[in-house]
Amino acid sequence: MNARVMISGGGAAGLCAACALAKRGFEPLVLEGQARVGKKLLATGNGRCNLTNMGAEETRYHGDTKAISVVFQRYPPQKVRAFFRSLGLETVEETEGRVYPMSRQAASVLDALRLTIPAYGGTIQTEAPVATLRRNERGRFEAQDESGAIYTARRVLVATGGLAAPKLGGNGSGVRLFQALGHTSSASFSTIVPLKTDSTLVRALKGQRVHCTIAMEANQRTLREENGEVLFGDGSLSGIAAMQLARNAQEVLRKGGQPVAILRLVNGSTKEWIDELKRRKDRCPFYPMEDFLSGICPKRVGMEIVKAAKIALAKRADALTQDEIARLAEHLCAWRFPITGVQGFEHAQATSGGVRLNEFDWNTMQSKYVNGLFAAGEVLNVDGDCGGYNLQWAWASALTAADGIAQSLQKER
Ligand SMILES: Cc1cc2nc3c(=O)[nH]c(=O)nc-3n(C[C@H](O)[C@H](O)[C@H](O)COP(=O)(O)OP(=O)(O)OC[C@H]3O[C@@H](n4cnc5c(N)ncnc54)[C@H](O)[C@@H]3O)c2cc1C
Repeated sequence: MNARVMISGGGAAGLCAACALAKRGFEPLVLEGQARVGKKLLATGNGRCNLTNMGAEETRYHGDTKAISVVFQRYPPQKVRAFFRSLGLETVEETEGRVYPMSRQAASVLDALRLTIPAYGGTIQTEAPVATLRRNERGRFEAQDESGAIYTARRVLVATGGLAAPKLGGNGSGVRLFQALGHTSSASFSTIVPLKTDSTLVRALKGQRVHCTIAMEANQRTLREENGEVLFGDGSLSGIAAMQLARNAQEVLRKGGQPVAILRLVNGSTKEWIDELKRRKDRCPFYPMEDFLSGICPKRVGMEIVKAAKIALAKRADALTQDEIARLAEHLCAWRFPITGVQGFEHAQATSGGVRLNEFDWNTMQSKYVNGLFAAGEVLNVDGDCGGYNLQWAWASALTAADGIAQSLQKER
């Protein structure tokens, strides 16, 4: 099949670029490896798709972040929202700058993209996982998929995403395609991913959720703190607040250090909580310890704190000693979980690492090594915090690449 522009990867970035190019009459061809496009997009934001963040700026990103300000100057979140509005998708801003489709359904975002492309003459080819990409003798790009089918085009955009969530299409093929064309990449690891801890510490808590502040500490120094929900799993701490700290934990582990996640279930100092627990003991002297913290935190969580503070569950509150009260207060204010690692790509929301961005012109997303080759999205070495930042990068880099492709094709006319 022959096209002017070929896009490898029908995810967020690939579909977005295809829409922009189709609307300008370039009839792009999207090659998607899976049976359907945008599978990961449907899973974003718990099915609601947190599609951008009004506070998106360089400080929210990791990797080759210098490209962020250049790309976001061209496509800040307001312009991304305007782009979606032009496709018929209205968006709303919720707390902390997070933007969602007004329908609160990720499917609306995918539909807007997927319906626009063919309407303007673009083609979506599914079950076409690109295995090789090369430039042929006539200077055209030639992609071959795993079935042996060959597609050619004058311009190619690789938007195959990262390694996160393999069931939703995450794989490392994009990096390999770029490497074959002379590009280099930095090592990849999973990010926005559950933290691993000693399973004996959390076994009894599996499935419990707490709203708290969670901090990552190493060498008695707090590296980062997040507020939000933490979910206890099978030897893991997950939930967005915990997952945001995975990067900090990995950095410490890579240097041979010992990261510790600290859960602060209550506000205030340990001293204030010692006084509070003393008053609680006087108010409820008849409580067995297994119920003593109910009303402050979920019962099973309260029981584990009592056990962690080395107090017998059957003991009555009026028998609590000063030391025991102090230990309980310490655990409520700073419950410590040594972190042994983070889970793999199958549980991750994003990939850290990828094709190096300094090998591309950030004003067009064109390769500095191969004319006519473009990149966008998570295949590149940039990843954002949780909160709409990763999709903002996918859209903004894709729209920049679409501009770059359009300009370069127009020059040839
Ligand atoms: C569960 C989950 C929830 C998330 N929630 C949010 C959120 O709410 N907000 C946010 O900002 N970010 C979120 N993210 C991250 C966000 O989804 C990604 O950063 C974003 O989708 C990256 O876009 P992309 O186009 O680069 O890659 P993808 O969206 O992953 O698309 C890549 C596409 O390329 C296809 N592909 C791969 N290799 C080939 C090949 N060789 N040939 C052809 N096709 C290929 C894949 O099948 C896939 O469809 C979430 C991620 C996960 C896993």
